Amino acid sequence: MEEFLAHELTIESITQKGLLILIIYAILEMAYLYFFKKYEGMKDYKQTTINFLFVIGMNIVVGALIGVISTASFSLLAFKNALFTTDLTYYWWIYGFLIYELFYWIQHWLAHKVRLIWCLHSPHHAPESMNMLVGFNHSFIEVIFYMPFFLGFMPSLLGVHPVIVLSIAVIDIIWGNLLHINEKVVPSGRYGLLEKILQTPSHHRVHHAQNVMYLDTNYNSMTLFWDWALGTLQPLREDEKVKYGITRNVKSDNFWDVQFGEFVLLAKDMWNASGILNKLNYLFQPPGWSHTRKHTGLVSELKKELKKD
Ligand SMILES: [Zn+2]
Ligand SMILES: [Zn+2]
Repeated sequence: MEEFLAHELTIESITQKGLLILIIYAILEMAYLYFFKKYEGMKDYKQTTINFLFVIGMNIVVGALIGVISTASFSLLAFKNALFTTDLTYYWWIYGFLIYELFYWIQHWLAHKVRLIWCLHSPHHAPESMNMLVGFNHSFIEVIFYMPFFLGFMPSLLGVHPVIVLSIAVIDIIWGNLLHINEKVVPSGRYGLLEKILQTPSHHRVHHAQNVMYLDTNYNSMTLFWDWALGTLQPLREDEKVKYGITRNVKSDNFWDVQFGEFVLLAKDMWNASGILNKLNYLFQPPGWSHTRKHTGLVSELKKELKKD
């Protein structure tokens, strides 16, 4: 365990330095877009900046009340109770990477397909443009509880060593945030041949699009493997320009609407539905599901319509 703590300290300091570099980059990108590019998406910064400070505040509050909840603490807890354990031999790194990415895909798929979890995830998709602060624009519940559970607890329950989990998590945070780089900084968002195996800004721009053909695709943040294997891979098409944002009419510069607007709509739908089963269905069915059984907003229905046209 002492050996692990030494690793953890190193990983913790690397994470902190990595995050600091990303934040400095995000601020430089904002200044560059404002002063040199007369950027039309500046209004998105208002909400993302408020949320960024809010998430830091909530981290401090939750940490003070119940201790720090993080990928590291979840991973350590699960590894002590793992179904089986593994070590740091190279093939366990490969196993660990595959498992980590699978759980990344699962948590992100659930975030798009289960309405209650979509309420937590939709703030990340609300901005109508892409920049590095969007990478940080997650609901505090998603950052503090939801993602550490899927990315820390679950892999280690399946035996992935905490050192492996945390090493991959550091790479994931850094690479995943860089996917949000603005078009005026890296116009194509494509990285040559890497485009065939890794998630790049071009793939993630597709994920943030509200164009019907792009909805619910490209869930992973590092490689394309699980999106390819599970049928959710969608490369950017030259003939389909990305329109960012979510399909509801959201005030993308308003912190309250972005962070909590989906919860309000969910509560309204539940209130208006008859019977306990219909009400509960709203929590767990995908966004767009309706108790009237006219699911016109369902992504699967929208895609069917698109095919007909
Ligand atoms: Zn998403
Ligand atoms: Zn994103």
